[in-house]
Amino acid sequence: MNRLFCTTLVKYSPRNAVLPSRAAQWPRTLATTASNRHANTESTTTDAQHYDIIIVGGGMVGTALACALGKNSRLQNKNILLLEAAAGFRQPSTEQYSNRVSAISKGTYRLMRTIGAWEEIERTRVKPVLKMQVWDACSDALITFNYDDFAENISWIVENDVLLASIYRQLEGVPNVRVRYSSKLASCELIRDGADRSTVRLADGETLKCDLLFM
Ligand SMILES: Cc1cc2nc3c(=O)[nH]c(=O)nc-3n(C[C@H](O)[C@H](O)[C@H](O)COP(=O)(O)OP(=O)(O)OC[C@H]3O[C@@H](n4cnc5c(N)ncnc54)[C@H](O)[C@@H]3O)c2cc1C
Repeated sequence: MNRLFCTTLVKYSPRNAVLPSRAAQWPRTLATTASNRHANTESTTTDAQHYDIIIVGGGMVGTALACALGKNSRLQNKNILLLEAAAGFRQPSTEQYSNRVSAISKGTYRLMRTIGAWEEIERTRVKPVLKMQVWDACSDALITFNYDDFAENISWIVENDVLLASIYRQLEGVPNVRVRYSSKLASCELIRDGADRSTVRLADGETLKCDLLFM
């Protein structure tokens, strides 16, 4: 997730959050199909399905974002859609280690706690880092990171699979977030291009509309 498009952020102010939900104002409400990963309500304006927020890419970043937005008390009345190109989520093995790991910062640690994923990460596998030393390859220069007396961790090493699975488990309990697999973004038009809503076109030709697009 390299770029972030905040197209109509003003709609998500706390003041607006207490207004009647957008879903109630829209002319037509569609029922969720049984094949949907998460039950949710969608609304249409004309012929394209409309969501308040669309997030493209269900990797660690997109899934964490969907979970954080979906659990935000100010966004409870917002329909959030997470689009993922892959066919489905594969539960990682808890028996085998994966060598794809991330060193996560204190900010990410706090985010994981906030969205409720940290407990599962800790239960599965995580290694705290108290001190880190980085050496220059061509000289004796080095830099060391640690808190005085090693009072706090400076980082945590977590397998990517464990991180994603733990966030994903939290996302399963968020009713206003829907996850769609086999849904690859092909192109988009942003509100700033003159439209009143962003348009997302999927590889299969389907068109979706949204007020806020993350990709
Ligand atoms: C080989 C390699 C090694 C790395 N090693 C490390 C490391 O040691 N430590 C570390 O901290 N970081 C490492 N990184 C970086 C780390 O993996 C990334 O920063 C992190 O995965 C980014 O997460 P993400 O969710 O943004 O993207 P990703 O994990 O790449 O997820 C993107 C998701 O978007 C989906 N997608 C892509 N295109 C579309 C589309 N058009 N429509 C819908 N869905 C789409 C993909 O299917 C995927 O699920 C490494 C990266 C690579 C490639």
